[in-house]
Amino acid sequence: MTGMKGRDAHGFNVAAGQWTRYAGPAARRLGPLAERAGQHVQRVGGKPLVVQADQLIDGSGRPPVRDGAVAVVGGRIVFSGPSTDCPSLPGATAYRFSGASLLPGFIDAHVHFTGDITADIYRRFLDPPQLVRPLIAAAHAAITLGAGFTTVRDLGLPGASTALRDAILSGSALGPRIVTAVTAIGQTGGHADWHAFPESWVVRSSFPRGDLADGVDRGRRAVRLRHRERADVIKLFLESGGVTNTPDDLLARPEFSAAELRGLIEESRRRGLPIAVHAKQGDVVRRAVALGVSTVEHADLDADDLDTFGHMASKNVILVPTLSLYHWVGRQGRRWGISEEGCSAARSLLPRRQAMVRAARVAGVKVAAGTDTGGTFGLGMNGTEMALLAECGLSASEAIQAGTRIAAEAVGLSEVLGTLEPGKLADLVVVRGDPLASIGILANPRNVIAVFTTASLGGTASTPSRMASHAC
Ligand SMILES: [Zn+2]
Repeated sequence: MTGMKGRDAHGFNVAAGQWTRYAGPAARRLGPLAERAGQHVQRVGGKPLVVQADQLIDGSGRPPVRDGAVAVVGGRIVFSGPSTDCPSLPGATAYRFSGASLLPGFIDAHVHFTGDITADIYRRFLDPPQLVRPLIAAAHAAITLGAGFTTVRDLGLPGASTALRDAILSGSALGPRIVTAVTAIGQTGGHADWHAFPESWVVRSSFPRGDLADGVDRGRRAVRLRHRERADVIKLFLESGGVTNTPDDLLARPEFSAAELRGLIEESRRRGLPIAVHAKQGDVVRRAVALGVSTVEHADLDADDLDTFGHMASKNVILVPTLSLYHWVGRQGRRWGISEEGCSAARSLLPRRQAMVRAARVAGVKVAAGTDTGGTFGLGMNGTEMALLAECGLSASEAIQAGTRIAAEAVGLSEVLGTLEPGKLADLVVVRGDPLASIGILANPRNVIAVFTTASLGGTASTPSRMASHAC
């Protein structure tokens, strides 16, 4: 076969080999990581289940229960409390974990399962092949589930979107339950635009950063398209200012006219879709909060901006500060192809954002854990966010609630997830040791020793009607 056109000396397809070389170690490590993650994941089926551990932390903020247990029938929790009070369930599968804590499955309120294997904007735009993206995203999802994250909210960018969500729900793929925005909505020249490329490339790209929706009518159509695609949530870019893009993009500039924003939010609410906004400055956040959004992503508010915190608290708008983004980009960004400017910006922004979280919490704003990762930096390390929140002055219990009870509220599923209480779905995670004594335990996925997921039980997807109840 040597010398055959398109083949190398060993007869392998050269084009396939090129992609493999490009993907390199980043892709090769995914298989083993996903397999290892899958080894300690249990799908909860119809059979009764009892899980016991030295300590039960139910996510509600109540004190932990020593020697606690959760009993499950039909995928729903029927008991949560001291093992001695646990009802005996005939035919139940029973697990006992010593030296470990039992918690609600963790929830990451801000991820992007794009199938990316690099954060270099040029390579992200051009590679990998679009059909491969969902397959890589599925490996990322499996690794995230193995890290104890049984639910995520995917805030868009193209990639696996509803296909991966539905494959997981149907049981044909292993991953967390996904609440998805499918594609974020922004404006031309804003955060959803690929500034580095000619516009004619961007509008024809099979990997757009978002839907560029200029004008009131085009904005309404963008929301209707997301609804038609069966998105669970609408994600709006209200400001540029991402740290992983070009240096140009580091400057925050408001997006959308007042009329455009009103149209986008009104249309989303009319469709019963909650809204997550990428926003930084106080006036932009206040404008969105006044119109009725559910969560504010990132934010760059001054610690003394009590006016904005007050608006958010009074309308029960949840802050998702994505501290992990700055943590990981600052530490690992160069390795993933992010510019030095982006990495140093992330390093300088982290303490500022942590000061904001500290002040927001004191002002009564709810804070949810969201990492802004999905496939490159921080893959499977989503628990880092809870440790970073604890550095802001949240107690270990509050940091855990940020990744369970409050995150469930942020993603619109607090009726069925987020705490270990009777009636809720039995998404459970067992971690080695006591995270109340040492929250840093949660930052290392190797401390996750068992994960129970109900994602494939069916009928539990976030639905527009359920999400509607969360829209402010
Ligand atoms: Zn994001």
